Amino acid sequence: MPLSAQGPRRRAALFWWPVCRVCLKRPEIPDERYGRCETCARSGRVPYRFRLASRPGGGLAVKAGELSPRALRQKLREPLLAFKGSPSTKQHLGLHELELITAKDRVESVRMAADLAAQSEAAMTALREAAERTDASW
Ligand SMILES: [Zn+2]
Repeated sequence: MPLSAQGPRRRAALFWWPVCRVCLKRPEIPDERYGRCETCARSGRVPYRFRLASRPGGGLAVKAGELSPRALRQKLREPLLAFKGSPSTKQHLGLHELELITAKDRVESVRMAADLAAQSEAAMTALREAAERTDASW
């Protein structure tokens, strides 16, 4: 299931203005690959969004993402294991959505939709488990 790569929309004076997916503040460069502003694009930060779902029998699992399981494993398996921060809650994410902000070869931050906040440990586990998979698609 493809996820929208579109930036969150915020009301500017007269328009709904797409804002940068990384900093959620500055305007997005039109048609920028990851929906970023100039500053975030220059700093090499890349956002990746995933959608989780409850797993039968308990816990959570990744159901869709902007990276395939294989690409997640190749790019982010080690950085995810090294990530020790705690996820933050963000309003711009939809139900069961989670977003990684990466910078160079590390995971800089993890953001979650409010509905995941109470299960943030399970969400991180689901992400790390997903990064062990070698499948081409979810
Ligand atoms: Zn930005």
